Amino acid sequence: MKSFIILSVLALVGSCAETKYSKKIENLDNGVQITDSTLVTKYANTITAEELKSNLYIFASKDYEGRAVGKPGQIKAVNFLKHFYVKENIAPAINDSTYFQTIPASFLPEGTGDSQNVLAYIKGSEKPEEVLIISGHLDHIGVENEDIYFGADDNGSGSMAILEIAQAFKIAEREGHRPKRSVLFMHLTAEEIGLQGSLYYTQNPIFDLNKTIANLNIDMIGRVDDRHKDNPNYIYIIGADRISKELNFVSEKANNSFTNLELDYKYNAEDDSNNYYYRSDHYNFAKQNIPVIFYFNGEHPDYHKPTDTPDKINYSLLEKRTKLIFATAWQLANKDKMLKHNEDI
Ligand SMILES: [Zn+2]
Repeated sequence: MKSFIILSVLALVGSCAETKYSKKIENLDNGVQITDSTLVTKYANTITAEELKSNLYIFASKDYEGRAVGKPGQIKAVNFLKHFYVKENIAPAINDSTYFQTIPASFLPEGTGDSQNVLAYIKGSEKPEEVLIISGHLDHIGVENEDIYFGADDNGSGSMAILEIAQAFKIAEREGHRPKRSVLFMHLTAEEIGLQGSLYYTQNPIFDLNKTIANLNIDMIGRVDDRHKDNPNYIYIIGADRISKELNFVSEKANNSFTNLELDYKYNAEDDSNNYYYRSDHYNFAKQNIPVIFYFNGEHPDYHKPTDTPDKINYSLLEKRTKLIFATAWQLANKDKMLKHNEDI
């Protein structure tokens, strides 16, 4: 009988604590307000299916030979990205003088040469030392048995999305709407051989990792998987609530306000056997306790095959998903405070 009473008291204490916690979460949710709606819509509209398509047809062409790490096709890819930023007058992020973070061959698995991450940025107006990272890997598998692995979806789609987002931020800046925080556009190499480009960056960061507000990582957002073939208006969101539930609230409100995609959390389940949370570059940022979102369309029959070509991309959907990431990025770059981490709730 005695132990029963103690248990009841404990249960009561437990449920009070739970109520208090859920109230805190509710307050956190209510505290997330969408700002600059008109501006976000205006600059999101500079992101177009046509530009995504014309860039991707170059980036995933046979000239680039599947962008294998350290190979001539990958060098063409990093130069393509650099030239885009030069043309758009978006600054290099490393000492304001170079776009390339060179990763020595010794850091990489045997048999690869030196390789490069590509980094451009727009400096924040109020808190330039705080940075939002928008990333995606630029490399792919290369050529095997004379077959080119074009990697149009993986990850030409994410690479081109970053360019369009950067351009949208730049047009806004030119018209007097510079983000409060810095926004870093980061194209990572050597993802396909073990997330090496992001690992190298997190070991050799250009901006203080403690002041890196979040990482939005894009890896495959141009296709539709079997689960959604009858309703392609979706994107998988992975990891958004794991380090900062507030980040997930920002993501959901940005989507509700601007894009109305179905945000599919299937692969965010902790016990999901695909383990996607651990399988792209955001994971190296998550390991540093930086809140992340991984944007992903799921797998399809052309995944990691030479048939992942640009003609199979759904460009209007790629445009819409890119707009979601831009709208989310805008909110994060301009919000008053850094994101609250779950451990501080
Ligand atoms: Zn990928």
